This record gives sequence, structure tokens and C-alpha cells, in this order.
Amino acid sequence: MSQTTELTDKAADSEAAATPRPRKVPRIVVLGGGSVGLYSAKRLRQRLGRREAAIVVIDPRPYMTYAPFLPEVAAGSISDRDVVAPHNRALKNIDTLMGKVTEIRHGDKTVVVTPEIGDSYEITYDHLIVGLGSVSRVLPIPGLAENAIGFKNVEEAVAVRNHVLDRIIVAASTWDKSLRERLLTFTFVGGGFAGCEAIAEIEDMAKSAVKQYPTIEPKDLRFVMIEGSNRILPELTEEMAQYALEEMQNRGIEFHLSAFLSSCEDGHVVTSTGVEFDTDTIVWTAGVKANPVIGESDLPSDKMGRVTTNTKLQVIDADGNVVPDAYAAGDCAAVPDVHGGINGFCVPNAQHAVRQAKLLGDNLAAVLRSGELKEYSHKNLGTVASLGLHKGVAILFGRIKLRGFFAWCAHRGYHLYAMPTISRRLRITTGWLSVYLMRRELVPLGPLHDPRAEFRNAAIPPKPKAEQAKSLPDEAKAS
Ligand SMILES: Cc1cc2nc3c(=O)[nH]c(=O)nc-3n(C[C@H](O)[C@H](O)[C@H](O)COP(=O)(O)OP(=O)(O)OC[C@H]3O[C@@H](n4cnc5c(N)ncnc54)[C@H](O)[C@@H]3O)c2cc1C
Repeated sequence: MSQTTELTDKAADSEAAATPRPRKVPRIVVLGGGSVGLYSAKRLRQRLGRREAAIVVIDPRPYMTYAPFLPEVAAGSISDRDVVAPHNRALKNIDTLMGKVTEIRHGDKTVVVTPEIGDSYEITYDHLIVGLGSVSRVLPIPGLAENAIGFKNVEEAVAVRNHVLDRIIVAASTWDKSLRERLLTFTFVGGGFAGCEAIAEIEDMAKSAVKQYPTIEPKDLRFVMIEGSNRILPELTEEMAQYALEEMQNRGIEFHLSAFLSSCEDGHVVTSTGVEFDTDTIVWTAGVKANPVIGESDLPSDKMGRVTTNTKLQVIDADGNVVPDAYAAGDCAAVPDVHGGINGFCVPNAQHAVRQAKLLGDNLAAVLRSGELKEYSHKNLGTVASLGLHKGVAILFGRIKLRGFFAWCAHRGYHLYAMPTISRRLRITTGWLSVYLMRRELVPLGPLHDPRAEFRNAAIPPKPKAEQAKSLPDEAKAS
């Protein structure tokens, strides 16, 4: 956490007695340090000197995650550390605070921050940028909370990778047929971009991984996608989505379209179409919704819980009036799309989030310097998706259709270019090169997620002998 200017009013008051009070500069508070937070704060700092504005970015994580690369992280083609941009390196001359924003009171120009450890505190501001992104849209399905995992952040992508590799090695060490089937069945729910890329990349990795185990054949792996609508990848044309579907089906991935997950208690999956099976892995990729903190704030929001803005990225109320000093962009904002979008609003993706963030920075800097505000207008550059190593599907500029290897190259090229910071781009390229030369590392590191387990067991005091004997079955006692 870096703090170069006065942050909380409390801190400023205590300092005031000892040191001359710093010149009051407008404070811009940025909620969220993801695509919107990082790029808007950086752009503001480029435009405004430190005497013109203090900028504070608040996020519970000390890094921004480039989510389009998460499927490749889960597949082991990119290292987890390379898809995150640490705030302290990317945000020069900007204050960062690690904590969750738990309350926004724009009427008082105050936000409440809850740190991981310690009491919540308030921060006041002159201007607010809301870039809180989205969270997994979860439904009240029996067993879902206990058995499934999301695929929204780097922690989840790494956990899914280790879990899948772990299930494979556990299955390789058991002769119980039904247990093996359950361990080797991997279920994904939601066939949008994140879900399809995730299942395709992870299936590809799993097929490589089983080559290390003579007791498992690639055909023993079962990958299942459950999707509510009658097609996958709504971001692509029907023709290209059909290509992607057939490509994955030919590899053996099972698709249940027009089917909903009805329950998954104890890993027993039941779909609305009557399909039932046991699985030890359920990855939930069935869409996102705006960060719920917004719905609980006094900022105006639409029925999907997104902050409403105009094309200048200023927050507006239901009558279209500008709410002074509040701006929003990205997944958590309903930004009008002058090129159409979905129902007239920009779709939630990184392409829009990054461009909106830069314009937001320019516009807020213009407000502080009494300049002109510009309108957001971005025509989709295209859609690129990876379907595993050397496989992909892409539509560029609305007309160039690519399949297979060339689409995969377009996916890698585009996202590498979009990845923040040159050092990250270099690291990713070096990682790809090493995977190409030495194959990807497929070691299961499941215990990484509970590193204290061994020590905890060792630290539990042994039961007294009499108690041990009591808990033994009668036959054991007799012998
Ligand atoms: C698996 C996956 C694949 C994707 N693939 C693509 C793709 O190929 N192409 C594409 O264009 N888009 C893709 N996207 C979508 C894209 O990543 C998002 O649209 C984009 O990141 C949105 O930017 P944002 O700044 O609005 O949100 P985010 O980048 O998610 O940032 C939100 C930030 O807010 C922080 N935050 C959350 N709650 C709080 C709180 N209470 N207080 C403070 N901070 C908080 C978070 O930690 C995060 O840093 C993908 C997304 C996922 C999950």
C-alpha cells in the first residue's frame, strides 16, 4: 500500500498539529483497481500533476487481473503471476488502499472501506470513479454453493487447474470404477466466452496430463458443458459458434444445450433435461452481474444493478440528469453504445472497459481544467477465442473469419497487445516460448490451497491410549 498524499480525514487531522497542512487539492477516489480503475487512474495522472489532484485507488487485491488470459492460466500456458499487474508498479504517484468498499454515500461524498484486518473507515472525496466490475451471477441451486467454483479471478483459475490435475492423479491411483468415473468427470455450467474457453483449454491440458499416467486413457476423461440456451458463444455469429461447438464435440466434449443445472448436491448433477451423473468438479461460468455494492448505494442504477451513465461516462439519474462529480465505466456501468451493443448498451468486456477508462480519465481531467468532455464511441474490433493449444475461432472487424491455428494466433496476439505493462508482455511471451520448447508443466499442486493441513494434523495432540481403544471397532480390540 502506498500513501503519498493525505488519505483519511482522521489521518490528516492528526498530522496537522505536527506538520504544515498540505495544499488542499481535489481528491479523486477510484473504486476498484481492475481494468477501469487502473487505466482511468493512470490516464488521470498523465493529465494532472500531483498539485492538481490526489488520486486514491481502492481494491481488496493489490493487483489488476487481465481476465481474458485466465483460461490459459488454468491450462498452464501462462503463469498466474504474469496475468496480474501489481498496483504499486503500474500506478506511479497514485495512492492505493487495500480494502473492500462496503458503502458508497455519494450524498455525503464518502465511501466506507473495510480492510482485511482491522476496523472499517471512511474516506471522503471530491470526485468519484466507480469501476467495481462484476461478480458471478449465481442461482439458488441445491448444492451449488458447497460444490462449485467460479472462474472470475486468478485465484479461481489456479485452483481449478490444481484441482483438475489433482483429480487425475487421484483417479490414476484407484481401481474403484465408479470413483474413477466421478473423479474424471469435469462439469462446466455456462457456454459463453469464459465457459467455452475454460472448458476447451482445460480439456486440452487434461489430455496432455493423462499421458503421464499409464492407468488412464484420454477417453476416460469426461468433460461436460451445460448451457441454458440453444447455442454457445452468443458473442459470435451462429456460423462461427457452430464451428466452435463442432470442434469441441469432435474432441469428445459433451454439450447439453437448452439445459439448466437443477441440482448438484454431493456432486450428483441433475439437469432440467433429466441428465444425471456424478462429478467431483463443477465450474460455474454462467454469467456475471454488476457488483452488488452499487445496488446498496445511493447512486442511480438500472434494473440489472449497473450504475447508469451517459456517453460521457458521467453518472445520470433516471431522468437523464447528471449526478455531479460521479463517473462510472466497465462491467458495473450501463454505458450507452452508439453502435448498438446489447439493448443499446455496451457489452461487458475488456475491450470496452479499457477504452472507457481512458476516456473517463480524459473527461475528468477536462472537468478539472474547465475543458470539453468527449463522448464514448467504440466500434467492436472483433472477437477472438482460444479453444486450446493451436485451436481457436475469431471474427475480426466484423467480417474476417478465422478458424483453428490462425484464430488462435489472433487471440494470443490481440490479448498480448492488450495486456498492461511491457514487463508482463515480455514475461508472457517468454512463458509461451518455454512451453513450446519444454512442454507445459503439469504437476498437480493441490496441497498449495491448504498449506497448513500437514502442520495442523501434526500439531493436534494425540488422543490418550484409553480413548484410542474406545474408538476402535470391537474386532480390533479383541485382536
Ligand atoms: C474468464 C474471463 C474471460 C474473459 N475474456 C474476455 C475476452 O476474451 N475479451 C474481453 O474483452 N473481455 C473478457 N472478459 C471480460 C473482462 O475481463 C471484463 O469485462 C473487464 O475486466 C471489466 O473491467 P472492470 O474494470 O469493469 O472490472 P474488473 O477488471 O473485474 O475490475 C473490478 C475490480 O474491482 C475490485 N473490487 C471488487 N469488489 C470491490 C469492492 N467491494 N471494493 C473495492 N474493489 C472491489 C476487483 O478486485 C477488481 O480489481 C473475460 C472475463 C472473464 C472472467
